[in-house]
Amino acid sequence: MTTPYADLHCHSTCSDGSLTPIELIDLAIEKGLKGLSITDHDTTRAYATALPYAKEKNVEIISGVEFSAFLGKESVHILGYSYQIGNEKIGKLCRFHTQRRQERNKGMLERLARVGIQIDESDLLKMNHGNEDLFDPESSIGRPHIAHAMIAKGYVSSVNEAFKKYLGEGKSCYVEGGGVTVEETIEAIREAGGLAVIAHPHLIKDKNLLSRLLEIDFDGMEVYYANIPSSQEQQWIKIAEKKGWIMTGGSDFHGISKPTIQLASSWVDASTFKFLHQHFLDNQTNDA
Ligand code: AMP
Ligand code: ZN
Ligand code: FE
Ligand code: FE
Repeated sequence: MTTPYADLHCHSTCSDGSLTPIELIDLAIEKGLKGLSITDHDTTRAYATALPYAKEKNVEIISGVEFSAFLGKESVHILGYSYQIGNEKIGKLCRFHTQRRQERNKGMLERLARVGIQIDESDLLKMNHGNEDLFDPESSIGRPHIAHAMIAKGYVSSVNEAFKKYLGEGKSCYVEGGGVTVEETIEAIREAGGLAVIAHPHLIKDKNLLSRLLEIDFDGMEVYYANIPSSQEQQWIKIAEKKGWIMTGGSDFHGISKPTIQLASSWVDASTFKFLHQHFLDNQTNDA
């Protein structure tokens, strides 16, 4: 019987989570975890504060990030782990995404304005309990921030309603994410010495898209995820075993944006984590 050791998928206030990196580490300790990876959307900003704090608290931490990427015209998520902190290739990709997100958010706000919903860019900074100080220019702002601004202004009553009516894929105010191909994303992660992992494959509903993604040379797949039945996990485990991929897992905890998901509700055991942790440590001294 294996025991929970580390949650490898969660979001902080550096993207669309509601806890700061430091609060996430405190919560991980409370939940009895020994290890953690903070996988913010398109930014590694969390590590500026998370690394020294994790060291102080004796929590083993590995670098992580969740990149948006294009496969053809579809948007998928790719997790990057154990890359070298401060690596320029990853930094460049994050800066590209910050710019892309600014333009995309503008596009979605314009579409909302056309249906009578007035949200300003400055409103997007109010997501985290109104604490604008939590955002710096390297934070990743996206649809959950728009959803919270819509709630604050009384246009919708929940994040879910905002996605269902306006912001979800294919809805009237949605603008595509992505911007960089899957292959380019994998290349940047690898150039930083990191490992590229397919995020939450069960969320990819298009079978064709999924089989194309599975043909790509990844290092791993996220086979454990919050609230999915173990029969589904088994399906991903089988595929990952066949490919010789690392099997990762995590909750995708966001705090208030996804209140049904708790930190540590999905996890990896000590042996998977130790492998990734050693890879992380080796990478910080190498010239990746
Ligand atoms: P973005 O990066 O701007 O495309 O936003 C992606 C974020 O929106 C991810 O954290 C998703 O989990 C979240 N998201 C997508 N669909 C929904 C939904 N129906 N309800 C709540 N959050 C969602
Ligand atoms: Zn998110
Ligand atoms: Fe994701
Ligand atoms: Fe995520």
